[in-house]
Amino acid sequence: MTPPPVATDRAPAPLTLRGVTVVDVHDGSLRSDCDVAIVDGTITAVGPRDDACAPLAEVVSMQGAYVVPGYADMHAHPLGRQDPTGALALMLANGVTGFRQMHGSPDLLAQRRDGALDLPSASPALLAMPGALLTPFNAATADRAVDMVREQHSAGADFIKIAAVTPEVYFPAQAEANRLGIPMLGHLPAGIDVVAAVEAGFHGIEHLGPGVTMLAACSTDQTNIAAEIATAPTPKLPPVELPFVDRLMDRVLTKLVVNPLNRSKPADIELLQRAVDTFDEGKAAELADAFVAAGTWHVPTLIRLRTQQLCDACEFSHDPYLKYMAPATVQTWRGAAKKFGRFTAAQRETFRSVYDVLLRLTKILDTAGVKMLAGSDSVGAAWEVPGFSLHREFGELARAGLSPLRILQMTTSNAAEYLGTTTTAGSVAPGRVADLVLLRDDPLEDAAHLSSVMGVVQRGRLRTGAELTAIKNEVSTTSPAH
Ligand SMILES: [Zn+2]
Repeated sequence: MTPPPVATDRAPAPLTLRGVTVVDVHDGSLRSDCDVAIVDGTITAVGPRDDACAPLAEVVSMQGAYVVPGYADMHAHPLGRQDPTGALALMLANGVTGFRQMHGSPDLLAQRRDGALDLPSASPALLAMPGALLTPFNAATADRAVDMVREQHSAGADFIKIAAVTPEVYFPAQAEANRLGIPMLGHLPAGIDVVAAVEAGFHGIEHLGPGVTMLAACSTDQTNIAAEIATAPTPKLPPVELPFVDRLMDRVLTKLVVNPLNRSKPADIELLQRAVDTFDEGKAAELADAFVAAGTWHVPTLIRLRTQQLCDACEFSHDPYLKYMAPATVQTWRGAAKKFGRFTAAQRETFRSVYDVLLRLTKILDTAGVKMLAGSDSVGAAWEVPGFSLHREFGELARAGLSPLRILQMTTSNAAEYLGTTTTAGSVAPGRVADLVLLRDDPLEDAAHLSSVMGVVQRGRLRTGAELTAIKNEVSTTSPAH
């Protein structure tokens, strides 16, 4: 027998947003003075004011507000490491109505499958989730990696995420993922030609590499740089699964992700500098064409790269949003910045110039028509306050030279395309889930206007600016707990 629905799960009452300007995220056109009617959490009508369309609805006048689909953070880590309540609340209060969780575990997959993954009511929706990250720790051999792909596929993972696996492991694992029809994506494996990887089926590249992997392919000195990457020592690990390896790995990763650059050796930094010095826009454009041909997705996570490459910049240590984070977390971030400050001035200059090249690369990918998504890489990365960091990502994409419309698409319609949900999400139209952001200023004029959030609709439930402020304040006063 099905239990009676709990009150909090009940669909909100019908709602009509009156007098709004609807933004078409596909062509950038605007329709002013519209009604958006919402019933049972779904948009039922969009058009000129029509009192007959939903007579029982609560009518909220939002005269002049711009309506866009809710934002998707397509690279985030709120679940699995600590109590996610505060992080999820901050995301929602910033207009994030959906997120792609970028690491998983057998536990998380089982909880989701059993309907036991209870997210708080103030939370964006979980859009997709992998199993445990495939690394040399848990996938040291090809056989083990293939088994992991099978296990995660049958446990219900939406995709397989890899990082730092060796070429010997990568290709068999990719072949198995292809056979099962599950996307494999993540960090480009070092020592493999990027084009060979995407032609083998690598579905998406995160963080523009990371590191030197993709920059090497944009270099006039590609052969030599690639040879150096290939001869770099790979971690020596026992080819058997250790007990609790995932939990152990998670602890290692939690420390590492704060700022992975802090582990750089002088030789790594010299190699980065060579990649910067020999960066070639023509080669980058050719590579971009290869991504277009292969249908490869990119999630640049520029804000992650900026906080990493410029970790000791005062823009971060003086960030007013730090008040939303637990003091212990901020302490860890300050520690990471201090450690970063111990690199020489020349080394830090190399890191900074890498970031400038990555901005140029992002623009080249965009110009070529590479499919891209917006992602912040918050929770766990230094200086990344959940929710706010996606807005910072919008700012960095604008800094790279992307148009406001393109940035809006990356966080809305492109996310729906990636997820295969364009008929139910990613636009403001009848039949779509009523996940919406209401903006004070025209988002097509300036990407900064994507942050002029005056209301968020989540599955048909409207939260006004005052409610969003209350949610954020609640997190800031309880931050030691989250
Ligand atoms: Zn990540």
